Amino acid sequence: MSTTRPLRVAVVGAGPAGLYAADYLTFDGDGSVRVDLIERLPVPFGLLRYGVAPDHLNIKAAGLTLMEVLERADVELYANVAVGTDVTVEELRARYDAVVYALGASGDRRIGIPGEDLPGSVSATSFVNWYNGHPEAARPDLATARSVAVVGVGNVALDVARILLRDAEELSPTDVPQGVLTTLRDSFVTDVHLLGRRGPQHAKFTTKELRELGELAGVAVVVDDGQLPAEPPEGLTPQAGRNLKVLKEWAARPPAAARRRLHLHFGARPVEILGEDHATALRLEATSPAGEGTGRTWDLPVDAVLRSVGYRSSGLAGVPFDDSSCTIPTEESRVVRDGVAAPGEYVVGWIKRGPTGILGTNRSDARDAVESVQADAPGLLAARTDDPGGIAELLDERKVRYVGVRGWQSVLATEEEYGVPHGRGRVKIRDWDDLLSAADEPDRK
Ligand code: NAP
Repeated sequence: MSTTRPLRVAVVGAGPAGLYAADYLTFDGDGSVRVDLIERLPVPFGLLRYGVAPDHLNIKAAGLTLMEVLERADVELYANVAVGTDVTVEELRARYDAVVYALGASGDRRIGIPGEDLPGSVSATSFVNWYNGHPEAARPDLATARSVAVVGVGNVALDVARILLRDAEELSPTDVPQGVLTTLRDSFVTDVHLLGRRGPQHAKFTTKELRELGELAGVAVVVDDGQLPAEPPEGLTPQAGRNLKVLKEWAARPPAAARRRLHLHFGARPVEILGEDHATALRLEATSPAGEGTGRTWDLPVDAVLRSVGYRSSGLAGVPFDDSSCTIPTEESRVVRDGVAAPGEYVVGWIKRGPTGILGTNRSDARDAVESVQADAPGLLAARTDDPGGIAELLDERKVRYVGVRGWQSVLATEEEYGVPHGRGRVKIRDWDDLLSAADEPDRK
């Protein structure tokens, strides 16, 4: 892009999608694009910090290469700034040539059955947030649970099952908050039931993650061979074929005594969470492999139900939102307003394509969006001769306390100090105010 002044871009959301967008936008490092990453939480990295399971160190390490993006001269971080409260979308549009929405999907989908709001019925999102030290997460209602049902057979369901079953000592080298480690050490959980509402060939989890469950020390996996198709069904995807092979191997294992057990159930659709003032059982209906109900129900006694049926995005005041798909409507990543995809507003990540895909999916997604920004850049720059200025002044005027890159680095350094008395490495700070204290003074590079 050859310009007289830099293109000013606000990226709303400093999770993986926003960071990859900032990466592509400033990759040349020639000063032609200046990116401000605006993040509601006091720290960046979104699901990389608060979604990826703590024991998935390789995924975390891959994501941390994005740290370099934040350190670029053309990138600024404004964390602890809520768009919609501290600054409006209209104000962003007035102060930037382009706005990229990378809001992610921090909410959870509902199963839609009676009893879902009973104490002891917990969304996987809140459990994941808790064990990852999210500043808004409450301790889940699982303290006395021995038997836990996990509804859903995606990778998040496997994550939560694994964290419940894994020996807590194995999490000591990770960055989970000390309170989380203590709670998991004191856990009474002996049995986790993973429940798929269709046949095993339709499970969404990936084989590598499935295999991990069979390798946990002190955990027996219980699979009834009768639930698995005798012959590989027609039209099986390669991933489903690999999953079935693992499940068949497990079903053939002789029963083993173990401290904890993982039970896999397929063709089991939840119809009601039972209990007076706390979940005590999950009522299930048997289904065909395709998921059609048979009318035959049974009750699985459990002390808690973890609902892992997918994430859900929320909209942002001033930006169109499609309630049925929970996404911002786009064409070639440009926001569609009143039926028109106009230059100047773009979308990346789960808020654009829905809550599926791994970390790397955001990379190609961000590249596509940045191609649209780059194609529109000459017109956006021609539309106004003066630099629209960004939001720093506005935030200072409003006395909004924001966290910049040095503040974030200071949080990371403080987290290393937190680990020392426990003989651990970096240990996450959980409390919002403590994060702000650790971030020290707001800064601009
Ligand atoms: P997901 O992959 O979409 O799985 C959701 C699960 O919930 C499916 O098994 C689905 O069954 C089930 N479900 C939906 N509605 C239900 C209902 N009403 N009753 C019962 N079951 C219901 O979502 P996710 O597990 O939240 O994962 C989100 C994305 O993050 C995925 O792309 C995942 O691969 C990714 N992720 C990756 C990793 C990793 O790479 N290690 C870790 C975590 C997450 P149906 O198929 O029948 O709808």
